[in-house]
Amino acid sequence: MGLSMKNKIFYVGLVLILAITGCSNSNEKELINDVEVSGSSSIGLIDDERILSAESEPGNWLAFGRTYDERRFSPLKQINKESVSDLGLVWSKDMGTNRALEATPIVVDGIMFFTSTWSRVYAVKALTGETIWSFDPKVPGEWAKKACCDIVNRGVAVYNGKVYSASLDGRLFALNAETGEKIWEVDTIIDRDRSYTITGAPRVAKGKVYIGNGGAEYGVRGYVTAYDSESGDQEWRFFTVPGNPDLGFEDPAMEMAAKTWKGTDWWEFGGGGTVWNSIVYDADFNNIYLGVGNGSPWTREIRSPGGGDNLFLSSIVAVDADTGVYKWHYQTTPEDNWDYTAVQDMALADMEIDGEMKKVLLQAPKNGFFYVIDRTNGKVLRAHPFAAVTWATHVDLETGRPVENPEVDYSDNGAWVLPGPLGAHNWQAMSIDLDSGLAYIPTQENPFFYAVQEDYKKTGIFKWTPGKWNMGIEMSSLAQNILNNLDSQPKPGGFLKAFDPLTGETKWSVPIPHYWNGGVLGTAGGLVFQGDALGMFSAYDKDTGERLWEFNTYTSMLAPPITFEVEGEQYVSILTGSGGGDLFGGEPLPPIEIQASLTYNNFGRLLVFKLGGQETLPMPDVRDTTIPEQKLVQVSIDQLQDGESKYNENCAVCHGFVVKSGGAIPDLRKMSAGVHDAFNQIVLEGLLAGGGMASFSDVLTEQEVENIHHYVKARAHEDREVALGNMEAPQYTWFGQE
Ligand code: CA
Repeated sequence: MGLSMKNKIFYVGLVLILAITGCSNSNEKELINDVEVSGSSSIGLIDDERILSAESEPGNWLAFGRTYDERRFSPLKQINKESVSDLGLVWSKDMGTNRALEATPIVVDGIMFFTSTWSRVYAVKALTGETIWSFDPKVPGEWAKKACCDIVNRGVAVYNGKVYSASLDGRLFALNAETGEKIWEVDTIIDRDRSYTITGAPRVAKGKVYIGNGGAEYGVRGYVTAYDSESGDQEWRFFTVPGNPDLGFEDPAMEMAAKTWKGTDWWEFGGGGTVWNSIVYDADFNNIYLGVGNGSPWTREIRSPGGGDNLFLSSIVAVDADTGVYKWHYQTTPEDNWDYTAVQDMALADMEIDGEMKKVLLQAPKNGFFYVIDRTNGKVLRAHPFAAVTWATHVDLETGRPVENPEVDYSDNGAWVLPGPLGAHNWQAMSIDLDSGLAYIPTQENPFFYAVQEDYKKTGIFKWTPGKWNMGIEMSSLAQNILNNLDSQPKPGGFLKAFDPLTGETKWSVPIPHYWNGGVLGTAGGLVFQGDALGMFSAYDKDTGERLWEFNTYTSMLAPPITFEVEGEQYVSILTGSGGGDLFGGEPLPPIEIQASLTYNNFGRLLVFKLGGQETLPMPDVRDTTIPEQKLVQVSIDQLQDGESKYNENCAVCHGFVVKSGGAIPDLRKMSAGVHDAFNQIVLEGLLAGGGMASFSDVLTEQEVENIHHYVKARAHEDREVALGNMEAPQYTWFGQE
């Protein structure tokens, strides 16, 4: 190692002071260049020694989950229970987007590195928000069509003077931390004809960058790749589900996994198992833990007829950090049938369990059970439910397996199941507080009406179509199914919970009227910070759940807050803007509970707070929810039914179920006359492809697009009539009529 850690910090500190105290249009780059340090950059200097001892510099936020342990609990306490009432906005940065912002900023020596929509990367001064550089990977607009959950990105990694980021279209970049210049770029996608995307933050450790991908809803095969952090050369790749056995197995783990898949051609559908969020490095065992996603298709009888656990779906897999060789796994949901990913953030800790200190991994995945797993062997030590769960009665700790609840088996008849596909907890980060032994978790109770696709039930044939959702779930008549089963629908809601993973006890729970809320930060100041769907950024007493402070951001939030310290002052920061995985159900079916703040528009901003901050945000215009009068023409019920089917299969993922947009993507009920006129050009010719609305001519015919258009207008008409008081409630009747 060249310079000692202390020297590096000193140099970086010096650069910052020079840069910040210079006049406003000073040539800060020259000042930075004047300081000669080894390597390609003089900022973002995080080496192994420094990142492994990140706990000793609490003023920085050096890795995705603050430290490699990813507990997202900060030792900073200048902002505390007593002082938090004085917390105020010090600066904000308009990111120029109304789509969701999901990133965790990395803060190194007074500089914040984060991502915005379209995988754009920013380096800004933490004290002022002034942009040092930005990098646009220029993702082709059409690629948005391959993404289940919009053009989002969850952040970067910073290491040895470089910033690592991945783009929606699957490229991984190493950027100079000082200038933003590209040092290298690799294409991580093995098959660009399949709908692979990357929204996750790369992780970096031991001279390697680790990245996975998404796309299980569309039908891809998941894997994670490790690249040399300096050269970008591929070091290893670990597949999470087996490919065609006739082509041979990549490694013994795939041979083992293939024995748990049944049928004759399961690999054709991709299998799923994408690692789209959580990858954690464990220095204690030199492991990389992979949080593996759901199956593709969702329904197991289509995916693997004849049963089988389908390894490594919905599993936590430990591989050797240097070689990618399999060590152990724990499968949270064998035979996944519900989109129960285990990609949620994983935290590492040493905890006393049954009188013995254990090195454990903690995860609260979608399926609703909070897992405490022994990192030496992958054995599950605790698995208490942390939210309402109906798919399984409990986890048998002897076998490590969940015991499914036959009452909600949907193989013959559709059923409401909790959790739904958004999970009891999704990627929105939790925080682990070792002092209290509690996890602060953003949880949700949001059911889904699962039913096996009618076409498949009738024919026994699953039509797999590249480029669109292939879930095996009945989507065409979903609205009608929901209406017919409203009486038994569990009420959706969100909760911020303080949960004891060892006892299963919920110490406190704050109900939030909307289910889709933001990630969590805990601090030694006795506070838990969270932004919610209602637009409130709040600080809660970590001992009682009492709300001690709130700030109206006027925009729903998903991103996790972070905290850092510069020049002796503590800051708290959060990105605003919602959407992501909830574009589909952005405004749920009755009972529709639209919160006051949700009637505002969606504004993407980076907000930074400190004690005594006095800045304010502009009060946004209230969103115009008027639906224009529709030019209706007489069409057949068949056409409307087909329009709804095709809408649900192709459009609802972004524009919202029953044509109600969650706010981030245009609400089609409000299309202008000009957009109506250009409808076919937009959908079939890609008129708006640059903004993400790609052509659907590969999956839709002109007649189908026309039917979708009729359906959209019919839905708009109903909602307009309800708003005008001419109709009591929407009827969604096309599937009920002959
Ligand atoms: Ca999924």
